[in-house]
Amino acid sequence: MKILKTKKIQSSNKPAFKKPALTKRELEKLFTKAKNELIMLSEITNCIMGSLKLDQVLYTILTALTSHAGLGFDRAMFFIVNKKRETLEGKMAIGPHSAEEADKIWQHVYNQELELNNLLKAYEKFKTDPGSKLNSIVQGIRIPLRVDTGILALTILEGMPFEITTREAKSMANDRIKKWIKMDLFVTIPLKTKTSTFGVILVDNIFSKKTITKDNLRILNMFANHAALAIENSRLYEKTVHLSRTDWLTGLWNTRYFSAILEKKLKKAKETKNPTALLMIDIDNFKRFNDKFGHRQGDDAIKKVADTLNRYSRGTDFVCRYGGEEFCIIMSKTNKAAAKRIAERLRKETEKSFKKDKTIPKEYKLTISLGLAFFPNDTIEKNDFINKADQALYRAKQTGKNIVCVYSTDFDIQ
Ligand code: GH3
Ligand code: MG
Ligand code: MG
Repeated sequence: MKILKTKKIQSSNKPAFKKPALTKRELEKLFTKAKNELIMLSEITNCIMGSLKLDQVLYTILTALTSHAGLGFDRAMFFIVNKKRETLEGKMAIGPHSAEEADKIWQHVYNQELELNNLLKAYEKFKTDPGSKLNSIVQGIRIPLRVDTGILALTILEGMPFEITTREAKSMANDRIKKWIKMDLFVTIPLKTKTSTFGVILVDNIFSKKTITKDNLRILNMFANHAALAIENSRLYEKTVHLSRTDWLTGLWNTRYFSAILEKKLKKAKETKNPTALLMIDIDNFKRFNDKFGHRQGDDAIKKVADTLNRYSRGTDFVCRYGGEEFCIIMSKTNKAAAKRIAERLRKETEKSFKKDKTIPKEYKLTISLGLAFFPNDTIEKNDFINKADQALYRAKQTGKNIVCVYSTDFDIQ
């Protein structure tokens, strides 16, 4: 495809003092402007580097682009390339959805004289605010990463900024994003690491109709390098955190994280008075399976059970590998009847998955035993909760295995 007659942004490195015709006064003015830009950029960079959480970093970047204490664009949106590098996905947007909303926001900012740092503190509210229409639209946008899908994809594929700042450029930029958002003149800028272009920022002034100036573009260009570095750092950090919380073999949450989460969930359950179920699971006769087929195939079987538990539990359940061939699931806001139903489904699906496997002789087909305990009915204390679910599991083993048992106070008498 012929590249649109959009201007790619040139970063101008020419120092202003080389122009011979400038008077001393003009020079001073330019110097002050450059100084202010540098102060603003350094302030923004400090804010961005102040967090390692990806969402918070993105929010900071987009706020810096839109706030009047920052670059002052009407809207800023961030899109990220997906893992397979097939699609560009909308991740976050800041700005009004309509001109009326824009007026309201600006009035609010103007009245409160909010500074950048204060705007950033508003992140917690933004996170939970269902009213941000532009943000929710952007989060639903998926654009195939091809040259024929518009400027956003081109920005990634060419690794270059695009400036749709003239009517002529606009008429040629038949952009896929217009399906979701009303667009007029805008600028896109790629975010790069040393090895790849991973995202794109789009900014515009659709409501204020302010011209996007050369100065805007130059600062934007410098800003993008800091933003890319901050995003990359936080992505690496989040990946490391995720790895430290998950189990290498199954990808389920690990015991250490389980312990922390159970504590958190019980605290919340106490506040909200919601029932919580704890399900302990152990593979039946696994030692025999291991002895027969070896450790490697044993590992595969553990992985298969983990996949079944993950697949047939609910999205809200917290599934964890508790030990070698033991698992546990925290079910928040779940009563006895629902927990029993889910546990039974997990038992059946596990049995089915091994029954289907023709490579395993009948006497070695694997099943699971499951034990359930309930908060607050059985206990309100964390370790006791684990003990009681464990006792229920023990009972399941004693009563023939491949069964779900629910904790009962009768266990304590025997
Ligand atoms: P039961 O029905 O009573 O649970 O009998 P079992 O044979 O499953 O007994 P137990 O739960 O005590 O067995 C644990 C066995 O699981 C011991 C060990 O050989 C095996 N195991 C533990 N962790 C791993 C692992 O990471 N990989 C493999 N392959 N085997 C493991
Ligand atoms: Mg065991
Ligand atoms: Mg076992």
